[in-house]
Amino acid sequence: MTTPPSLRYNTEAEIQKAIETSRRTFQAGVTRPLAYRRQQLERLWKLLDENSSIICDAVWDDLRKPKNEVILGEIAVIKQDIAIAYENLEQWAKDEPITPSFLNRLGTTCVQRKEPRGSALLISPWNYPIQLALTPLVGVIAAGCTAVIKPSELAPSTAKLLADLVPLYLDPKSYILINGAIQETTQLLAAKWDHIFYTGNGAVAKIVMRAAAEHLTTLTLELGGKSPVFVLDDDANMKLVAKRISFGKTFNAGQSCIAPDYVLVTEKSEAKLIEAFRQSFEEMFGKDPKKSPDLGRIICHRHFHRIKKLLDGTDSSKIVVGGQTDESELYFAPTIVANVSVNDPLMSDELFAPILPLIRVRDVDEAIEIVNAQEDALALYVFSNDKKQIKKILDSTRSGGVCVNDTMMHVGELKLPFGGIGPSGMGAYHGKASFDTFTHTRSTMVKKLSVIGEKISEARYAPYSEKNLSL
Ligand code: NAD
Repeated sequence: MTTPPSLRYNTEAEIQKAIETSRRTFQAGVTRPLAYRRQQLERLWKLLDENSSIICDAVWDDLRKPKNEVILGEIAVIKQDIAIAYENLEQWAKDEPITPSFLNRLGTTCVQRKEPRGSALLISPWNYPIQLALTPLVGVIAAGCTAVIKPSELAPSTAKLLADLVPLYLDPKSYILINGAIQETTQLLAAKWDHIFYTGNGAVAKIVMRAAAEHLTTLTLELGGKSPVFVLDDDANMKLVAKRISFGKTFNAGQSCIAPDYVLVTEKSEAKLIEAFRQSFEEMFGKDPKKSPDLGRIICHRHFHRIKKLLDGTDSSKIVVGGQTDESELYFAPTIVANVSVNDPLMSDELFAPILPLIRVRDVDEAIEIVNAQEDALALYVFSNDKKQIKKILDSTRSGGVCVNDTMMHVGELKLPFGGIGPSGMGAYHGKASFDTFTHTRSTMVKKLSVIGEKISEARYAPYSEKNLSL
């Protein structure tokens, strides 16, 4: 891949230096004191606060992402996470006392110490280029770790801005930003880390996992998948259902890891739902969404072609809303494809686009069967007021997370841990889960060096022949 002219990739020597500095700083204990962590969290807040306008410009350059989407989906998310960490840091970092069992009662204390894992590698993707680079960093700082952060080269303006801002605001010996593509990431992955946190696609996740295995390094994988939506109540308020699904499907032009990927709907409701989608798209983006300043673009030509191929592979008579594209602008209209079969190309992989296939189902059992035939998704959405139906769906399916009667909003609640299951990821973060991800819970027993309690555990000492133990 050629380097975009505006983004300078770091050299081999710079990367080596970053790896060594990150480790040395951690070993020197610089990042451990809570006062230091608090100060760096404040600095990260300041970075976002003082630069929100140029951050919005950079993300617009990369994705034509509307300013409101950058503020809501990137800056506000990180700030909220910083606020939670800041407020709870002392409590989270405190030793957790454990009452010892009877045999250890005398002269013994047990605690779980909350220790920083060490030097971490954060690798992030292009779709939320600020949020996904800096939210894991909140956990790194809160837990007392150091990190090297590698943003995506596919969002070069944002990656460049991060390279300028991170050293200006954060301690440059503790949190180091490295830019590059496969070659640079490969060099980073060859090093020994104490934790690797990767956000991106499943194919690269396997490369990351193999690299982690080489050093038996713990890792978090935040991946994607086909997140299904159940719309099975024929008397549901379809206008509201369509509005809430449209939000998830068009925010960032559908390029969200938790975007609703396909809808399972009864034949009876399909036409009503299609009409409601037509209306909600028009309300959001007007009659010609291409002219709307509120609809983002596809990240690059490679992804544009990937999506176009999927859409071209489907029966065009089933495209009932949208379908227009313009490669010169990397534009895809919000699109609804009706009566899609499970074997359609649109069902072959995560769409990551403003295209929504509708699959007709007889009933909830058929819908569950279709979802379970797919790999476990990152999110699952149910629109219903029927508690029994909701319970049945949740009890019979699996996914990283769930949101009932809305899309994507569960991830905005940063006190809920966010992560996948199986192919949609492993581990979780946000709020306390981020602190835990970068923390090693070190079980510690402290005994008194005195003869008190010695009698009770006398049996462990040889010679055993004199002790006659029996169960
Ligand atoms: P991407 O292409 O930017 O890749 C992600 C990172 O991996 C980048 O930093 C890139 O430089 C690096 N990379 C790429 N190829 C590599 C290789 N061969 N070796 C080492 N490193 C390599 O982003 P992407 O993967 O296209 O991101 C989109 C995917 O990420 C989707 O599947 C989406 O669902 C998922 N995602 C998940 C989350 C989540 O939080 N779970 C969030 C956003 C995106």
